[in-house]
Parts: sequence; structure tokens; C-alpha cells
Amino acid sequence: MPMTTNPLDDDHFHEECGVFGVWGATDAAALTALGLHALQHRGQEAAGIVSLDRGRFHTHKGRGLVGDNFSDAKTMAGLPGRAAVGHNRYATTGETALRNVQPLYADFVFGGFAVAHNGNLTNAVKLKRELVRRGCIFQSTTDSEVFIHLIAISLYDTVIDRLIDAMKQVQGAYSLVALHDGALIGARDPRGVRPLVLGRLGTGEGASWVMASETCALDIVGADFVRDVEPGEIVTIDDRGVTSIKPFAAVPERFCIFEYIYFARPDSVVEGTPVYTTRKQIGAELARESPVEADLVVPVPDSGVPAAMGFSLEAGIPFELGIIRNHYVGRTFIEPTDHIRHLGVKLKHSANRAMLEGKRVILVDDSIVRGTTSRKIVEMVRHAGAVEVHMRISSPPTTHSCFYGIDTPERSQLMAANHDVAEMARIIGVDSLAFISLDGLYRALGKPGRDEKKPAYCDACFTGDYAIPVTDNLENRTAPLSMLPAVAE
Ligand code: SF4
Repeated sequence: MPMTTNPLDDDHFHEECGVFGVWGATDAAALTALGLHALQHRGQEAAGIVSLDRGRFHTHKGRGLVGDNFSDAKTMAGLPGRAAVGHNRYATTGETALRNVQPLYADFVFGGFAVAHNGNLTNAVKLKRELVRRGCIFQSTTDSEVFIHLIAISLYDTVIDRLIDAMKQVQGAYSLVALHDGALIGARDPRGVRPLVLGRLGTGEGASWVMASETCALDIVGADFVRDVEPGEIVTIDDRGVTSIKPFAAVPERFCIFEYIYFARPDSVVEGTPVYTTRKQIGAELARESPVEADLVVPVPDSGVPAAMGFSLEAGIPFELGIIRNHYVGRTFIEPTDHIRHLGVKLKHSANRAMLEGKRVILVDDSIVRGTTSRKIVEMVRHAGAVEVHMRISSPPTTHSCFYGIDTPERSQLMAANHDVAEMARIIGVDSLAFISLDGLYRALGKPGRDEKKPAYCDACFTGDYAIPVTDNLENRTAPLSMLPAVAE
């Protein structure tokens, strides 16, 4: 997958999408816009909403943030109705064409259908080739369109049966919300890699229902958390209430462990576990595993903050904001010339010299992907007068790419795939470097350690243990179909 060249790229894996759906509420589109705003961290490149009003669908999509696209009264007036689905998209450069912005909409024999999807199908290329051969014409490069075509050509009668038929053919990690004239549908892949929660607005007969990638999107609209949509579950919400089916053979769950480390918002509760306290526990475990004498614990903001707090409390070393983040730097602030690219880290982070001068500093960050940002941050902290810089990372080394819906460099660009920890420390320029162990990470999540035979989570980017087959040649997944390599049938 090509990586962004944005100078403000912060060298993280990036979530590719957030989804939100609501049924039975006045101002459904406005609630959806609010929900998407709370999910903005899951995708900043584009946003879209499809609403349903008395059998008619209405769509608005645009590049940029939710607030850029859904803040004026005219736009919102164009999205009437008591049901809506919405989507935030993170995309790499060149892939943000409006035709790729979700939700995708299609007219079927049974009526209109809109779908918004978070995740990645690992056999999308293979399926696309088969669908094109059968006459389907693709208009986008998103995996959601694979669902659209599979549903369109299914020989089953009902929407749900067609969706089950489609889900049986796809491989991958995904959550989706879909809307047709009669119901809001939510579904998760059988291993439940990507999150989806169910919430309720109000009580009794007047209640309306919400589905979202994270609980923070329920909070913003005032919805109560009801439960997680379960792996392999299809939830249907209509005017009679909520029904649920689990039409797939049960397989071991593998929820994405990186949601706890970095992707999810810290105020979300993910799979029953609060993200903020989990991150603090990870920091505490890291302090127990890799202690070091120092004067200060300093987070790399914002994502390193909870783990740094946990580290500080466990180690008994003061926590200080030795790096200040500028929150007002947009992704498209300046053209990425070489000079600006070099300045990138400084546009986003500043060293707090008053705190750092003459100090032995423990920097806590959540991950090292290519190592480019870490090296610049360490350089900045030393330049501000730190006499020792130790780095502690609240994830194990990211040695493998993610094929399950996360924007990720090829393995050749992952620092930990190509260097041992000592070499990484030398390249980044720190006095010491340590990552939390895999077992330590599982312990922080309340498990005794990683069960090698039956791991509780997806941790493939740390282990290479890909529980869902990676069928496609993903490096070529955005190429025109005619240029794709042959896939073994
Ligand atoms: Fe999450 Fe890593 Fe698995 Fe991708 S490979 S789903 S980032 S744990």
C-alpha cells in the first residue's frame, strides 16, 4: 500500500475508517454528523452521510473533516429523515477520490441500499476479478463496493439473506453499517477484528438506536451503551426493535489489540475494557519490565500520555509535559516540499525546554513504525538540554504489516522488521530503548500472557500470526484490474 508523503505524518499505523448509523431519531443526519465528529480520529480524509426519509435516500459526501462538510444548515437540510449511516475515511495520497468516499449507495431490485464499512477484505482482488468477469462494473476501489455487487447478484430474496450470502464469500476484518428502506443493519466479521457497538437513545417505544465504531460516538449523542455487536453477528434494527442472528460457524475471536494501544479514543470502552485505564496499565507493566533511572517521564503527545502516566506512577518518577503538541496544524497546512518535510515534527511538537534542560528523560510513545519521527523527537529533546534520553514503547516491536484495515507501510519500511532493538536505539539516538513484551501487553489486558495456541487478540503486526488468510497480493490492490497479478483459483 502506498504511504502518504504528508510532512505531518506522525509515523503511526492509521485506522482507515469510522462508521456510525442511527434508526428512528429526529435529526438522524445531525446525530450522525456528531457521531462521526467523535470518530474523527479514525479517519480525517473524507466523510459521508446517507439519510433515509420516507423511502427516499439522500447523500452528501466530501473530502476533509466532518466539520468541513456537515456544519452548514443547507447541507443538513438536504439530509432529512429518521435514519442515517455515515463514514469517516482515512486514505493514503491519491486514493481520496470522491467516488471512494463512503457510504456507498446502490439501487437494487429490493430498493435503495447504503453501506459504510470499516476494515479490509483480504480477498477483495480475487472477488473483484470474478465479479468483473460476470459483468459487474466497479466505480470505486473500496471494499464496500465488493459487498454491493455481491448483494446485487445474490439469488436470495431478502436483504439479510443476500448480506449473509455476501459475508460468506468475503474474507477479512470488517465492521459495517448499512441502511435500506426498512432497517438499519450492523455486522462484524466472524473473528470480530474491528469494533462495532450498539447504543440506545431514550427508552421504551420512543427509543431510537445507534451503532458506531466506538462508545465515544454514543457519548456525544447522549446514547446509552447497550452492548458490543458480537463477532459474526448481524444486528437488524427496524421500527419493531432489534433482532440479531449469528449465521456463521463460530471461530476464535481475534479483536485488534492495537485498538487498545493506539487506535481507539482513550475515553472509549472497547470490548468491555476502558481504553484509558488499559493504556495506563500497559505503561505500568512497561515500567516493571524495563525500569531505568531518570528524573522525568515525558509522553510523546497525545497518544503516549496515558501509558506515560502509568509508567510514572509505577516507577515513582515525576510525569511532566516535556513535549507540547500544537493541535492547530492541519494535515494540508503546507505543501510537502523537502524543507517543510524536514520541519514536520517541529510543526506538530515543541520541546518544553524549562522541563527538559539538564534532565534524564524517559520518553514514552505507543509505537515505532518507520522510526523517522522518533529520531526527530529525540533530537529535539536533546537539543532542549536533556542529558539522557531513554525511550519506552507501549507496544511490542511492529515487525509485520497489517492487512486488516490499517494503513501500514510494507515490511521493508518497518524499522523493527529490519533492525534489532540495539540497532534501533542507535539509529533513533537514545541511551536506551525498550518495548513492552507481548506477554506484558496481554497481562496489561488482564490475561495471564499470550496463549500461543489460542491468542485472545489479533496481534499479527507484532507476531506475523495472521488468523485471517491474506489471499490477495495487497501491494497491488489499488491497481487497475487488468494490471493485477494472476490469483491462483
Ligand atoms: Fe490490529 Fe495489528 Fe491485527 Fe492489524 S495486524 S488488526 S493493527 S493487531
